[in-house]
Amino acid sequence: MTIIRQDDLIQSVADALQYISYYHPVDFIKAVSEAYQREESKAAKDALAQILVNSRMSATGHRPLCQDTGIVTVFVRVGMQVQWQSELSVTDMINEGVRRAYMLPENILRASVLEDPDGARRNTKDNTPAVIHYEIVAGDKVDIYVAAKGGGSEAKSKFAMLNPSDSVVEWVLQMLPTMGAGWCPPGILGVGIGGTAEKAMLCAKEALLEHIDIHELQARGASNRSEELRLELFDKVNALGIGAQGLGGLTTVLDVKVKDYPTHAANKAVAIIPNCAATRHVHFTLDGSGVAELPVPDLSDWPEIALESDESVRRVNLDTVDRDEISHWKPGDTLLLSGKMLTGRDAAHKKMTDMLANGEQLPVDLTGRFIYYVGPVDPIGDEAVGPAGPTTATRMDKFTRTMLEQTGLIGMVGKAERGQLAIDAIRDNQAVYLIAVGGAAYLVSKAIVKAEVVAFPELGMEAIYEFEVKDMPVTVAVDTQGESIHRIGPQIWQAKIEQHALTLKP
Ligand code: SF4
Repeated sequence: MTIIRQDDLIQSVADALQYISYYHPVDFIKAVSEAYQREESKAAKDALAQILVNSRMSATGHRPLCQDTGIVTVFVRVGMQVQWQSELSVTDMINEGVRRAYMLPENILRASVLEDPDGARRNTKDNTPAVIHYEIVAGDKVDIYVAAKGGGSEAKSKFAMLNPSDSVVEWVLQMLPTMGAGWCPPGILGVGIGGTAEKAMLCAKEALLEHIDIHELQARGASNRSEELRLELFDKVNALGIGAQGLGGLTTVLDVKVKDYPTHAANKAVAIIPNCAATRHVHFTLDGSGVAELPVPDLSDWPEIALESDESVRRVNLDTVDRDEISHWKPGDTLLLSGKMLTGRDAAHKKMTDMLANGEQLPVDLTGRFIYYVGPVDPIGDEAVGPAGPTTATRMDKFTRTMLEQTGLIGMVGKAERGQLAIDAIRDNQAVYLIAVGGAAYLVSKAIVKAEVVAFPELGMEAIYEFEVKDMPVTVAVDTQGESIHRIGPQIWQAKIEQHALTLKP
């Protein structure tokens, strides 16, 4: 019989969450480094470089990889010979660990969890509760997998109940282009097949906890249907040319993980859950000897990459930029922004458009300005702001026409593609949409020299800030003509990959 003490579980969970907030798994870093080496698309290569530089900075600075520090997901396997020395339930202990981690003053993490999800959507302020899955297994230990899942990648999850004769590969390939870039590729696809509806989703999520080993599998060959699927999907998904951040390129997925479960003769449930550029998970075991020890990674596993800025990069002064200047920008152009811009995301946009509909005056003047879709982490020490990467712009699409037509706003900065609704509004108003790299939040925050809340402080991380930035790297994603890099880039790279594959054939 093993005795597990209350504080050993709480502290182990807290340590694990702090750890994954700033350390990518080493297998992930190696896979991104490889993708960086072989990438031929300049825009995608730049994005991969930023992800790697950001990762190294986070590992050395012990600050979050991404401003979205995730919703905590825990898989617990409890040995039947374990006894708990605690007044709390295991769920309460895990949630106490979450609380302790997210509120640690030396590395405060963003609280993103809201209760009453279809009602008031109140922030619980400490990122609890976690989503916890239990299994009772043989043995005298407790095995715990802790993950912090970003909202952008979770939002792109898919599920279908296929007919038994339907092709899983065909369905996955249909889904991928519909997922856009909001899941911050490159990442890993978790595919769950079989069981029941909820079991397929769970298999997809659990599959993401496995190590990246697609190259080993390619070398040794498949030994079962799941492995065959992994190999086929890995090649075919990457051949779509979506690329890092959806900019078009050779690597969209670093691995595909497939987990299956026996199912009913009438069913073939299938689920996809993607993991993003902020892939965060760690495994530890409690054996009664105390708090789990997590291995300190060797920083030599992180490549040292210098971010290049050649003469094609345009320097933009946000304090003087005007419609004439932005009309010369083209999709794929790299810009370095300096000066002042405002921030705002979902809740602020809802409030502003409601105020406009009621004929009220906005608390900020957006004339001739840029807005950055972001919900930053709170600062610590002498930081102007904590990690502050872009959030998915697509969610702001429905507000875009109103904002452009009624406020004088001329530009937006976010991540991922815009829908047709927003692209039409951008073209009609000769505005622009720029992207920063999702998953490079700590790096982006270093370009923010000053931050001040200027409206809606009650919205917490969703308040409107004024940021002063210095050389913040962004890419033009939609130009004033409504041309989008997320449409052109994957098209070009899909064709190039297809052509390359043909030339390789005997
Ligand atoms: S990398 Fe992208 S999807 Fe992942 S947590 Fe960060 S913003 Fe969200």
